[in-house]
Amino acid sequence: MSLADVYVFAGPPGSGKGTQAKLLAPKLNVPHISLGDLLREAVRNASKVGQIAKNYLDAGKLVPDNVAIDVAEEAVKNEECRNGFVIDGFPRTLEQAVLFDKMLDKLKFNLKRVFYIDIPLEEILKRLTGRRSCRTCGAIYHLTFSPPKAEGKCDVCGGELYQRRDDTDEVIRVRYEVYKKQTAPLIDYYTKTGKLAYINGNKDVAEVFKEVNKAIS
Ligand code: AMP
Repeated sequence: MSLADVYVFAGPPGSGKGTQAKLLAPKLNVPHISLGDLLREAVRNASKVGQIAKNYLDAGKLVPDNVAIDVAEEAVKNEECRNGFVIDGFPRTLEQAVLFDKMLDKLKFNLKRVFYIDIPLEEILKRLTGRRSCRTCGAIYHLTFSPPKAEGKCDVCGGELYQRRDDTDEVIRVRYEVYKKQTAPLIDYYTKTGKLAYINGNKDVAEVFKEVNKAIS
């Protein structure tokens, strides 16, 4: 029996990893898991995990590894993932990456590719301060680059658009520093295993998606 394939999107905040993961998952007919979305949902529901995670998210810091790993494991064990999945925002530290490898082994998945999407800080600031997300379906907009048809309303489902609390200039800079220190070492880790696909994220969404597809074939 062949193992089900797993695709990871990594990169700094605002690199478009969530956007690309959302495009790739339906194409491969597998679910998309976003660790950030799961944590924000936990915060909204004020669950036990949410209560721990809230302050970290608001400050732009990473939640403790054991919390991130538990949330990820619960998600990938879901029956829907049995034919594989696309995940973004996890792993985000070396410790998470090592434990993720073990988790995939145990659950009989094959880590197929890690897309590392690169983008400079100035572009990140432009993108994230203008980003708006739909509260209902998670669709993502940008006030200048891809505005919704009606202000404040999602084109897809009519849901309310909101600005993430961590998408302010100050918190974005913290998230970027956290990324450089804690997540960037994963580039080396996955280069060594031959899984890394380097993607230039400083292009429009369709162009980046073309690169992602090239890296799969
Ligand atoms: P994102 O939506 O991917 O930008 O993630 C938003 C926030 O969720 C991050 O700034 C962290 O506070 C938290 N988070 C998401 N993924 C992880 C992870 N793998 N490990 C720790 N914290 C995470």
